[in-house]
Amino acid sequence: MILRIVYDDVHRLHADPSGRHPENPWRLEVALESLRESSLWSKVEVTGTPEASISLLELVHSSDYVRFIAEESRKGFHYLDADTYVTEHTFTISARFATAAYMAAIKSLESGEPWLIMPRPGGHHAGRSGWAMGAPTLGFCIFNYAAIAAKALEDRGLRVLVIDFDAHHGNGTQDVFWEDPKVVHIDVHQEAIYPGTGDVDDIGGRGAEGTKINIPLPAFSGDPQYFWFVEKVLEPVMEVFKPEAVVVSAGFDAYQGDPLTMLRATKEAYGRIAWAIRSQWIGGRIKALVINVEGGYGDGLRYGLREYVEVLLGFKEFRRAIEPREPPRRITEGLRRILGRYWGLEL
Ligand SMILES: [Zn+2]
Repeated sequence: MILRIVYDDVHRLHADPSGRHPENPWRLEVALESLRESSLWSKVEVTGTPEASISLLELVHSSDYVRFIAEESRKGFHYLDADTYVTEHTFTISARFATAAYMAAIKSLESGEPWLIMPRPGGHHAGRSGWAMGAPTLGFCIFNYAAIAAKALEDRGLRVLVIDFDAHHGNGTQDVFWEDPKVVHIDVHQEAIYPGTGDVDDIGGRGAEGTKINIPLPAFSGDPQYFWFVEKVLEPVMEVFKPEAVVVSAGFDAYQGDPLTMLRATKEAYGRIAWAIRSQWIGGRIKALVINVEGGYGDGLRYGLREYVEVLLGFKEFRRAIEPREPPRRITEGLRRILGRYWGLEL
């Protein structure tokens, strides 16, 4: 099996000239270098981004928002809000990665090969009209690559599962599919940090109740809670839902020591998640797999991503090394209600 990676040096033109913003070109350089050092590199094909297709952006974003980003980008480097900057190249860069995500979804479906998109900036906080679900900022994001890939696969009639394990809630993706029962979205994140959404009781809008599953973990949660999440939520829901396509928002900012969060995952947690997805993949059930790199501002980009990909591709046998531990009761009780009522699962 070959892993198709989308990497493009064009991302370097999206940068804060002061060099102080945590979302900077160093992130992808570290991530790519780490993958290159792995034996998995022999099974990788790297391609750049295609020409941007503006109409594809409008699959998940309003035309007003797309126009707004184009206009703001033309003004050159400045901040759109307290967190999020654009440069004169940002519109084109983010649109190229969005187009790549769409094409990756289609090609993955055709060939059965997994695709890994390495975009900058990330995408999962960008909602239909940008700022999503009342979030104060765009959280560094411009266009939502995971949502575009999921929409492409949904439009081809597949049962789509979005798995978002970035440490921040994927409010943009959830906003896009909030009232769409055909896209199931499981999101594990740190509670009570940016963007402030993703409570366990947020289960989807009218007609889509139970298709959005949020697992907010308290600060200092780590591998034991992630193992619990995979065993008690992710794997059972996959068994019931039987996804035909999986789109992953793969952020590595839950890794211990990340400067933006207070979670303590290690590579074990990422390996465990990858193992769960691989099990579905090799079982032949998943016809398309698109992984989008989201956040990660420290060592997670180096060690978390590599472990994730190595386990996913079978370069590493995954051994269960960690005893699962459940999060606090408020969270497990909420999940018990949702999994019981909408999924027929016991927690
Ligand atoms: Zn994040």
